[in-house]
Amino acid sequence: MTDIAIIGGGIAGISAAARLSHHASVTLLEGEDRLGYHASGRSAAAFVEDYGNPVVRSLNSASAAYLRNENGGVLSARGMLLVAKAGDKDLFEREHREFGLSAISVNEARHKIPILDPETVQYAGFREDIYDIDTDLLLQNFRREALKNGAEINTKSQVTALSYGNKRWTITTSIGVFSASILVNAAGAWADPLAQMAGLDPLGVTPYRRSMARIPAPAGHDVSRWPFMDEVGEAWYAKPDAGQLIVSPCEEHATHPHDAWADDMILAEGLARYEQMVTAPVARITANWAGLRSFAPDRALVIGRAPQQPAFFWLVGQGGYGFQTCVAASQLTTDLIAGRPSELTTQTRDALSPDRFS
Ligand SMILES: Cc1cc2nc3c(=O)[nH]c(=O)nc-3n(C[C@H](O)[C@H](O)[C@H](O)COP(=O)(O)OP(=O)(O)OC[C@H]3O[C@@H](n4cnc5c(N)ncnc54)[C@H](O)[C@@H]3O)c2cc1C
Repeated sequence: MTDIAIIGGGIAGISAAARLSHHASVTLLEGEDRLGYHASGRSAAAFVEDYGNPVVRSLNSASAAYLRNENGGVLSARGMLLVAKAGDKDLFEREHREFGLSAISVNEARHKIPILDPETVQYAGFREDIYDIDTDLLLQNFRREALKNGAEINTKSQVTALSYGNKRWTITTSIGVFSASILVNAAGAWADPLAQMAGLDPLGVTPYRRSMARIPAPAGHDVSRWPFMDEVGEAWYAKPDAGQLIVSPCEEHATHPHDAWADDMILAEGLARYEQMVTAPVARITANWAGLRSFAPDRALVIGRAPQQPAFFWLVGQGGYGFQTCVAASQLTTDLIAGRPSELTTQTRDALSPDRFS
């Protein structure tokens, strides 16, 4: 049986551990004291099938049925409302087509979200089949599946050195030395530094910070059934979360791999843009955080064996889509490592392969 070490205990690593554990002996190594501490603990937890470039969208679509049905499903209906100001007509036309939304009147939009300001909101589009993902449940389902199949999951296991010889990796960590014949890089923002530790060239995977604020529900409103709302041009988005609203300024601030935190000024500017479109001012922020969305240069995931070193497998570049793509991404990882045919088209597989950078 092949023995595989997966480095990274976010959604990428844990979903791959679950899938691979049916075919191989799997050890997952996560540096933090729990799974899902970095990007995977900080997402907006949305499933928007028509979000991302065409390659990402094929992974979204190939993941949908599993997310909807497996283990009772992790999706719940949310819907999505896109809004725009008078000056953004062209942008609205383009984005409402791209996201597959139907144009609705501002009055209809205000039935869904009564605090929308009719003075500023001039265009609105809606789509029903946008979902919340229960990301904690999804992580736990994959964790349970991996453990049931005998996978070993180690937290507090920071990988500090990698070497390859006699067809095996020697993996030095903060809790000891491990050995494996295949190494899966699921290190999120640390994808390139980990490859360099293994003696490989980086691919240019760049982490971009995105911040989030949680604010109280506007007085007198039960927000629980409000749709995900988004102003064109990703000016901001907001969605209900545990009886409150989370609002993101949608910034993409290129940075280095680190434990990210929200930028106060960026949050304030994003909330000001949100406030322009609603009649309920933001009185206070109850919590805030930020996470890193890590993209390859062409914004598609990178899934496949490194051309320079086939015992090194890339599973990185999940960007803003790591949860909605994880089922198809982990399935492709398993198919490629186990040498089985994939249900994805050759075109999609080629567009995901690390070979595209060589
Ligand atoms: C604000 C925000 C909103 C988002 N909204 C959505 C959304 O609505 N829907 C969606 O699908 N996606 C969303 N995303 C994106 C999604 O969260 C990410 O794509 C996904 O979590 C990435 O998962 P990952 O496992 O690749 O990375 P991570 O979760 O960051 O996991 C990588 C792990 O590798 C570990 N690691 C790195 N180096 C080492 C080492 N040397 N040794 C041991 N461990 C190591 C790290 O500690 C880390 O835990 C959002 C992201 C953000 C920030």
